[in-house]
Order: sequence, then structure tokens, then C-alpha cells
Amino acid sequence: MSNISVLGIFVADIIFSGKKIPSVGETILGDSYNIGPGGKGCNQAIAIARLGGKVNFISKIGKDDYGQLALNTLNQNKIDTSTIIQSADYQTGVAGIMVDKKTGKNAINVITGAPSSFTIDEVNQNIDKIQNSKIFLTQLEIPKDVILHSLKIAKENSVLTILNPAPASEIPKEFFNYIDYFTPNETEAEFYTGIKITNEKEAKEASVKLLNLGLKKVVITLGEKGLFYSDGKEEVYLKATSVKAIDTTGAGDAFNGGLAFALSQNKSIKDSLNLANQVAGLSTLKIGAGNAMPTLKDLS
Ligand code: ADP
Repeated sequence: MSNISVLGIFVADIIFSGKKIPSVGETILGDSYNIGPGGKGCNQAIAIARLGGKVNFISKIGKDDYGQLALNTLNQNKIDTSTIIQSADYQTGVAGIMVDKKTGKNAINVITGAPSSFTIDEVNQNIDKIQNSKIFLTQLEIPKDVILHSLKIAKENSVLTILNPAPASEIPKEFFNYIDYFTPNETEAEFYTGIKITNEKEAKEASVKLLNLGLKKVVITLGEKGLFYSDGKEEVYLKATSVKAIDTTGAGDAFNGGLAFALSQNKSIKDSLNLANQVAGLSTLKIGAGNAMPTLKDLS
């Protein structure tokens, strides 16, 4: 039995790299392309599995080539796929990513595909996996009613819950009753609080506002500046690890996976944040999202 359940989406990231991002109506000859696993949920599950965590991934994919890529990727990473629903009626998600190789800037069009049709009945098919986990981790890429239902079931069974509120979007206040850890990045934290975060002081202000909404523990990730944690009593500020980042795509996912793994090992909050910070820093050393996740060996 897995001790961590991740609910979320898989998408095949199709990355086109060239000397610029084409403008409307323009065709360019690019340099290279790459197809790899993406989708926040899948990336987070890979991060956990590579650290040695036992994880199942609750998701929905199509019966197509990218669906096969999803299953191959998850199996290679030793993630429990018995919780994946494969449907002939929907396509597997894809993201078309145009990258300007000089600046690293990108433009992305994500088609979430099958998971956009995820229902409460479908998540209930695997609800025992959530009920019997130690940690439940999810994001905001699938329908909200399914997320809320799953968080509720997790809490009713004393499972520790982490909501990575990404991409940022309006959530009913009821959600906050069922979240132990809320882990926005700085732009997401600004979305929920209206506070623009450029330093530790502003991160603290935003965390106070989030705790006042009824959240119990807040971790705001601050990109290359690190992270800020508060539960209203204990506060932790950690600088990011000093690495020469090549591609920060998926850094937040590495962080959330690392945090879930560390908490599942009963590490203290400080040690858990430290490990997640290191995992996220290492993930910036490789291009891509899911494939950039480090292993436990990389940490030592
Ligand atoms: P997201 O990927 O969701 O935008 P962030 O940019 O806040 O999230 O990054 C998440 C975490 O990744 C940070 O808290 C930090 O631990 C790590 N990180 C991100 N960028 C860098 C960097 N340039 N150098 C070292 N660590 C980084």
C-alpha cells in the first residue's frame, strides 16, 4: 500500500526550441524538439517516487500514444498506476511549449484532455487508496468538486493533506477546512492575498492573510529566493540552494513532492522544508519537468 496519494494530471510536454517564439502567422525553422512527461500531479508523483516514496497517482488519461507514454513513465518510476483511469472517449493531455533558446522564455498551450472530465464517481473507485495513505497531495488542474471531495475524504480519515494551489484560481472557502499545508508560489500567493511578494517581509504578510482565511500551515515558495513557512507560531525562512539553474520548469512540483515525501517519513517541519528546498534546487539543473526530478542519491 502506498503511503502517499497524488491526485492530478499527466500531460505530454511537447517542447519546440528555436531562436525565437514564432509570432502570429510566422513560420520558423527551429533547432530541436523533445517530448517528455509533464502535468503538475505527475511531476510531483515522480519526485516522490525518485526519493524512494511509495506513491500512487490518481488520474485519467486517454487510450492513445500519449496515454501509453504516461503509463511507461509512471511504471519506469515505480509509481502505482492501478489508480489510473484510461478512457477511450477522451484524449490524453498535451502541452505545446515554444521555447526561445536564447532567453529560456516560453509560450505554452495546455490541453488537459481526459482529466477535465474527471468525476466524483471516478475518484471514488480508488478512494480506499486515499483513505489508507499517510499523505494526500493535489493541485488545481482537475475539476474543483473532485478536489474538494477528495480533500474531505482524506481529512475524515486523518490523512495529512497538501494543496498546491496551482494554477491559481478561485476556491470556495470550504476548501480551507480540509487543507493542512497550502503551498502557493509567490504569484499564486499574490492571487489569494492581493499582496505582491518581493521579499521575506511581504511573504510573512501574505502568510498572515492566508492563515486568517482558516489555513493551518502555509509555505510560500519564492523561486530563486527560497521559501517562507508559517503556522502562526513557528516561522521558517530558507534561502534557495545555490545552484546554476538551467531550467526551472517543475521546480515547484519538485518542492511539493519533496515536502510530501519528507512529511511521510515523519521528519520535522524544518527538516522537511530543507529537503524539499534541496530537491527543488536540484530539479533546476536538468531540462524538462518530470524527467528533471532528482533521486535520493543526487541529494547526498
Ligand atoms: P514554481 O515552479 O511553482 O514557480 P518557485 O519558482 O517558487 O515555484 O520554485 C519552487 C522552489 O524551487 C523554490 O522554493 C526553491 O526551493 C526552488 N528554486 C526555484 N528556482 C530556483 C533557483 N534558481 N535556484 C535554486 N532553487 C530554486
